[in-house]
Parts: sequence; structure tokens; C-alpha cells
Amino acid sequence: MISVIEKSKCCGCNACGDICPQNSITFKTDIEGFWYPEVNMDTCVNCGLCEKVCPQLHVDQLKKNDYQKPIHTIAAIHKNMRIRWNSTSGGAYTALADVMLESGGYVSGAVYNEGFTGVHNYVTNNPEEMDKLRSSKYLQSNAEGLYRTIKQLLAKGEKVLACGTPCQMAALRSFLNKDYENLIIVDFICRGVNSPKVYRAYLDSLEKKYGSKVVYVKAKNKELGWRNLTRKVTFENGESYYGVFMEDDFRRGYHTNVFCRPSCYNCQFKGFPRISDITIADYWGIEKIDKNLDSNVGTSMILLNSKKGNDYFQLVKDCLDYRETAFETIFAGNPALTKPIGPAKVDREALFEDLDSHDFDYITQKYFPLRKANLQKVTIKDRVKSVFRLCKSFLDNIVDFIKHPASVIATYQINHRKNTELLGGKIRIEPNVTLDIHPSAKIRVESSVDFGRTEIKGFYTPTCLKMTAGTELVFHDGPITRYGNHTYPLRHGACIEIINNGKLTIGQGACNVNLTIMCAKEIKIGNGVRIGRNVSIRDFNGDHVIINDTYVNSAPIVIEDRCWLCTGCSIMPGVTIGTGSVVAANAVVTKSVPPHSLVAGSPAKVIKENIEWY
Ligand SMILES: Cc1cc2nc3c(=O)[nH]c(=O)nc-3n(C[C@H](O)[C@H](O)[C@H](O)COP(=O)(O)OP(=O)(O)OC[C@H]3O[C@@H](n4cnc5c(N)ncnc54)[C@H](O)[C@@H]3O)c2cc1C
Ligand code: SF4
Ligand code: SF4
Ligand code: SF4
Repeated sequence: MISVIEKSKCCGCNACGDICPQNSITFKTDIEGFWYPEVNMDTCVNCGLCEKVCPQLHVDQLKKNDYQKPIHTIAAIHKNMRIRWNSTSGGAYTALADVMLESGGYVSGAVYNEGFTGVHNYVTNNPEEMDKLRSSKYLQSNAEGLYRTIKQLLAKGEKVLACGTPCQMAALRSFLNKDYENLIIVDFICRGVNSPKVYRAYLDSLEKKYGSKVVYVKAKNKELGWRNLTRKVTFENGESYYGVFMEDDFRRGYHTNVFCRPSCYNCQFKGFPRISDITIADYWGIEKIDKNLDSNVGTSMILLNSKKGNDYFQLVKDCLDYRETAFETIFAGNPALTKPIGPAKVDREALFEDLDSHDFDYITQKYFPLRKANLQKVTIKDRVKSVFRLCKSFLDNIVDFIKHPASVIATYQINHRKNTELLGGKIRIEPNVTLDIHPSAKIRVESSVDFGRTEIKGFYTPTCLKMTAGTELVFHDGPITRYGNHTYPLRHGACIEIINNGKLTIGQGACNVNLTIMCAKEIKIGNGVRIGRNVSIRDFNGDHVIINDTYVNSAPIVIEDRCWLCTGCSIMPGVTIGTGSVVAANAVVTKSVPPHSLVAGSPAKVIKENIEWY
């Protein structure tokens, strides 16, 4: 028996096995649990196809594309919160796959074997199987038969969207040996695949601890947030294990490169040009680029590498909230995009020998034990970094301030004891008001505002306005109502927060005490709007999300002219309240309200139409 190439170079893509006309190639699993081809020389006719198809031997021919680097770099989240929740990143794969399935085509990906003994590649045209395809399984998937199946489908004229590791997708290109209009190839940024044998040993150890069989595994569960990289494993007895980042033994081994496939240490499919039409990945660092696309439930990076990939994205984009980002931003959070992982700092040979005679916990203790640093405690290095960050942010603030000298308001980050006038008298600040305004935030006042006004002499409930970088607050002038005199009375107790580039505009009108406004997108309040006590208007629900198909975490709010929002009502994201409408006390408005309607209850319903009020 001989192999097709040197063992350490073989990425285990299985393409040679699929192409062999004699079925002379079988895959044998070594002590590490990775499979390698073996050729039966008794049946081999020496046709050379196995060497011809091997992606490792033809990287230069395969790493070609329409564009040297992606034509578009995109940050995206699936609009359906449930899909996003169940995906590894922002749900880009599901968006791409659903369009293919809806058009009657086939999709491929990787699914767990029965009993979680490993992972194999799988092709389907059944949308109901999407749930098992979704999500990253960080062990090597067995692609035996994948390339033959896809070729047969394409030859029959079926449309296919294939997704897999970059080396598998390079193998697919090589196997097909020509372009098919009806094929879209999707790969992902890949830091390496792990040994299925180690994974099974890890699950065995958990089953022993929980005294029950594993029934569900999610490598990147989001209950504790996308960034926490938490593995969730659920057992037959209903209990669940949560392993957070490096505290999880398997992830610690993976991230210290201890049991990846040997070819991953020298991966040839990094960087650009990509071999795929579309590359998907986690958009680490999105919080610095666009907070609207980040609520710690996962954000996808999508790279459009070919004309075909770009055209296909046009069919998919409506299921996504997305924006184009700068190509340069994708490298910092994702070293695996361009560089292979470093060598394991353990004796790998000894580790795998030990695994044959000991359990996973023994291996963990000996080769990659949980250290204090893994518990995410603060190290001296972290402290130095945080002092550095503090100094940098201090300097950045000074620079910002110099860049935006007009923003005098930014200095009022204290509780004032006296009345103060700002913006040439356009804003009157009453006592007990705190302003925390980033120098780059913009405030425009067409008439004037009385911030923190009280009708009770000397009684001022704390009032605050917070505006982060890039936000905007506008007080429009308008016709004088019976409540106003061109000065907006923003009564005491108000708490207004404008974040994430949000924009709040308020027309001429009036509000009573304890108004809460949380604006992360856009809130428009028209002229003549009367706001009662303890009213809450928020276009953003913070970091908490409800996982269902229609949940919207953040969406603009419009309150048209001459509305009356009575005591204690709440206006939720995405709502428009039509001109002249009244929202009854304590109503919770979750859906838009037609003009001149009276709505009440929770959720609020129209109880009278064609109303006028005065
Ligand atoms: C082994 C591995 C390493 C990765 N390394 C990185 C990284 O370093 N940086 C980064 O940003 N992203 C990495 N990713 C990609 C990332 O985890 C997400 O898969 C990707 O962002 C797509 O997320 P999604 O929400 O769009 O789709 P998901 O719903 O997560 O779907 C992912 C697709 O990949 C397929 N798939 C899952 N596991 C495997 C597997 N073992 N082999 C082949 N196909 C598989 C799924 O079936 C599905 O088609 C890696 C993924 C894997 C599997
Ligand atoms: S040379 Fe041809 S027949 Fe022999 S193993 Fe390779 S593909 Fe099969
Ligand atoms: S085709 Fe794939 S499995 Fe076969 S030798 Fe090459 S890399 Fe290994
Ligand atoms: S790191 Fe490279 S060689 Fe390893 S699985 Fe990923 S694409 Fe293949």
C-alpha cells in the first residue's frame, strides 16, 4: 500500500478517493484519529488521477479568482433572530443556503454522525434539514462521496451551493476541473480542524461526569454571548454543561493547537485570492465599526470573491441587515485568515499514545491544564495594557476635544448646582442635571430648551443626557402650542441616552417629569406632541434579545405631530404613531398606530378611531 502524497501534507479532503476509477483508495485512520489515503496497488491502474486531483499538489492553479482580493467586504446579520441565534456567526450561511433551497437547488455542509462519533459532509435539498447543517463543528468532517455527489447533481443541471473548509472547496474545484454556472462555492476562514478521536474522548469524559449520554452539542452557544465562545452540551438526563472559552478543555486544546490535523500547521489555503466565490467568517471587531450590527449574538463577515459570488449576494441581501466595510478591518480580529496556526508546544506523539491508554481528563491535566490565566483573571500584562488603554483614551479625548472645539457642552460632565446657559443661551441647564456628551456628538437647537425644568420650587429630580460619539440631538422649532413659547420644557427626572450613532429629533411641544428616551437608531418626535409623566420611548432594547422569528431589537420610531402620550405609556422599537393620536395611560405600543386613533392596553390596541383632542 502507498499514499498519494506525504502524510504530513495530506489535508484529508478525500478527493483522491472520490476520483479513483478503480476504487483503489481507502482511508485509514491513524493513532491521532485522522484519516489518510492508502492505495491498493493490486487494483491500481496507475492512471494518475489521484495526484491530479489532490489540492495540496496544485495550490497555484487552484488559488485563482476573478479578483485578487474580495470585490466587497460586508458585515451582516440575519434579520431573523432565531436563525442568528442558532448560527455560529451572524447567520450568513443560512441566508445563502435558503436562497438556493428556495430556488429548488441543493446545499452542502457538515453534520454530526449519529451518536456524535464525528462529522461528515452532507448534501440536501430539504429545507427541514438546515438545522443540522447550521453551525460550526470544529472537527474534521469526512467528505467521502461529496465531490461525486455534487458533480452528478451539476451534470443533471441542478443548482448547488457547496460549503466547507477552504481545502475541501479547493478539492471540489479540482475534482470538477471546470466552472459550472449552476455552482456557488462558499468557504470560511478556517483556523484548523481537530481530531474526531479527541473530540469523542472529550464527550466521553463529559458523559462520565454527568452520568448521561450526550444528546446535543453546540460549539458556539450564545446564551452567554457570542464573544464568550461557550460550548453547550446537553445530556439525556436534561442537564447541560457550559464551557466558557479557555475554561472548556476541548477549546483550550484547540486554541493551543494541540490536536489539529498536521496539515493545518502549514495550511496552503490562507490569504488571497480565495478559491471560493464567497467566504464567510466571524466579524470580530464589528463593535468598533458599527454598533448597529452588533448585539453580541453574532455578526458575519462576508467576502465576495468572484463575479458569481457578487451576483449571488444580490439575491440574498434582503434577508440581511448589512453594510460594506473597509477591507483592512478584517485582519486584526482574524489571524487565521492569512496565517496558519503555530506549532503545538507539547509532545504530540506522547499525547496521542497516552490517549490510547488514558481518558481525556488525564491528557488535559498533562498537556494543556487549566491555568489561572485561562480563568480570565487579570494578569500584570493585562494591567499594563489597561493602563495603556486608559492613557490612550484620555489622549484621544483631548484630541477629539481639540478637533471639535464648538462642543463646549462636552465639559459639563458634572452635577450642576446652579442654572447655566449653553450654546449662546439656547440651552438652559437647571440644577441637578448631568450631561455626558462626547465631543463628536452634535446638538442643534433651533429655538431653546430648558433642561431639567421644575414646577416645584427647589425640587429637582436628577436629569441626565448621555450622547456617545457620532450621535445627534436636534430640537426643531415649530408653531407655538398652548404648552410652549418656543422653549422646550424638558422637565426634571428625564433620562435621555443617545448611543450607537443614534439621532433624536424633538419638535416644539412639552413633556412632563421622568421621561425616558433610549435612542440607538432614530427617534423623531413631531410638533405639538404632549408627553405625560413616566413615559418611555425606546428604539433599542439593549443587549437582551428574545429568540423568535420576528423579534426586532432596534428600529426607528416616529411620533407624528400633535400626538398625546399619556402617563406611563411605553413606545417600543419600530413604531409609528400617526398624527393626532392618543396613547392611553400605561399602554405598551408595539405596533404602529393609525392617525387620529386612541390606543390602550398592553399590547396597545385601537379602541377609538377618528378622534381629535385638545
Ligand atoms: C473548523 C472551523 C474553523 C473555523 N475557524 C474560524 C476562524 O478562525 N475565524 C472565523 O472567523 N471563522 C472561523 N470559522 C467559521 C465560523 O465558525 C462560521 O462557520 C462562519 O462564520 C459561518 O457562520 P454562519 O453563522 O454564517 O454559519 P453556520 O450556520 O455556522 O454554518 C457554517 C457552515 O459550515 C459548515 N461546517 C460546520 N462545521 C464544518 C466542518 N467541520 N467542516 C466543514 N464544514 C463545516 C456548516 O455545515 C455550514 O454549512 C471556522 C469554522 C470551522 C468549521
Ligand atoms: S493512480 Fe488511478 S487507479 Fe491508481 S489509485 Fe490513483 S486514481 Fe486510483
Ligand atoms: S486528495 Fe486530499 S485526501 Fe487525497 S492525498 Fe490529497 S490531500 Fe490527501
Ligand atoms: S486550516 Fe487549512 S488545511 Fe486545515 S482544515 Fe482548514 S483549510 Fe484545511
